Amino acid sequence: MPRPAIKVRPELAICEHCDSVHRRLPLERGEAADCKVCGATLYRRPMLDLDAMLALAAAALIVFVLANAAPLVTMESGGTTTRGWLLTLVATTWTSGVGAVSAIVIGTVFLFPLAQITLYFYVLLACRLKLPAPQFVNAMHWLRRLRPWSMVQVFLIGTLVSIIKMSHLASVQPEPGLWAFGVLTILLTALGTFELRELWVLREEAQQA
Ligand SMILES: [Zn+2]
Repeated sequence: MPRPAIKVRPELAICEHCDSVHRRLPLERGEAADCKVCGATLYRRPMLDLDAMLALAAAALIVFVLANAAPLVTMESGGTTTRGWLLTLVATTWTSGVGAVSAIVIGTVFLFPLAQITLYFYVLLACRLKLPAPQFVNAMHWLRRLRPWSMVQVFLIGTLVSIIKMSHLASVQPEPGLWAFGVLTILLTALGTFELRELWVLREEAQQA
């Protein structure tokens, strides 16, 4: 027997802390509505509008390419100079027998952030172009799953610590790729501050416009 379809009620908001149901009121940009029962934040209207978020995602995509195309560090030791890109460093780790480490790095610093940024870009573009819901919902599901697995900031801190430690053994110079990873960390943090349900609000705003 087919299950009955549940009707979506966008005019209502449920408090995720106490389960009470509220009628949504229109908010100004950056404003938040609190639950009348428990005082928790119920929903907020994003500080940035759709175009600004889209620009942020596009910037993250460009900086991601630059961060991976440019070398991260240059090392000088015993008269030889070695330049290290993220992917060459991962390949070196792989061939030195610590495949698990390279697999973790390639996932958390390359694949998951790339997928995350692409999904953000797609979701925001889908809002902008008013694309139908099924693809949007799938993309939102994947975005929720992937968000915890993107660890560019952990990698950046780890690399900086390694550079400081290695500076006793060899001359290590940071290169543009490392600065690009710094900028990427800021952009990903900015994108990550938006709750996914705020994207639904942006989508509804775009649909009504
Ligand atoms: Zn509540």
